[in-house]
Amino acid sequence: MIRENLRNVTDSLPPGVRLVAVSKYHTEEDILEAYNAGQRIFGESREQELSRKRQSLPEDIEWHFIGHLQTNKVRFIAPYISMIHAVDSLRLLREINKQALACGRVIDVLLELHLAQEDTKYGLTPDSCRQLLDGGEWRQMTGVRIRGLMMMASNTDDTDQIRNEMTQAANLFDELKSEYFADVDYFNERSWGMSHDYPIAVECRATMVRVGSRIFES
Ligand SMILES: *Cc1c(COP(=O)(O)O)cnc(C)c1O
Repeated sequence: MIRENLRNVTDSLPPGVRLVAVSKYHTEEDILEAYNAGQRIFGESREQELSRKRQSLPEDIEWHFIGHLQTNKVRFIAPYISMIHAVDSLRLLREINKQALACGRVIDVLLELHLAQEDTKYGLTPDSCRQLLDGGEWRQMTGVRIRGLMMMASNTDDTDQIRNEMTQAANLFDELKSEYFADVDYFNERSWGMSHDYPIAVECRATMVRVGSRIFES
């Protein structure tokens, strides 16, 4: 079933949009099934769960940390994580930089935007995002590379609202790109879209969608 679900999702993605298979709460066996069907990028949102799972899984899996990350957990994932999606403070960015340098790596990160209606979600408002970049401290951080933006749209059935939020995110991406990253190629990732809204995300220029339940729960 996982194999078919995965095929259905990947077949619907245009070239240039990558799938992060969100495997949180799912077993190593399920992950391996998706791996054997060709999937290589997996997303987890808890450090302990991720650290435990990866020990028994193939080494060429690209692990993406997609959840809220506490600064005291960064050092555990710094040696191997491929991308950290939800950077929502300068403090967290500094810690990722520090731990990346300590293990001789450059870690790819995304800034998490908060555009949804719910107050419970983490993330930077567009203004705090601009402020962080205006501050310029990130330019000296040789252990991190800001690759783009990540966001979660409001959890609603109102597709207009979802589309509206994702469009705002895409527009902010363009603004930040020309304002701060005009001279680099690597600022090129837009991570939005989950099981219920990834087709809208694709319309709104996502380069990565993070899909869990649609793949692992039938
Ligand atoms: C769980 C999670 C997803 C995937 O959600 P599904 O509805 O299972 O597809 C995507 N992004 C984040 C940040 C998540 O925590």
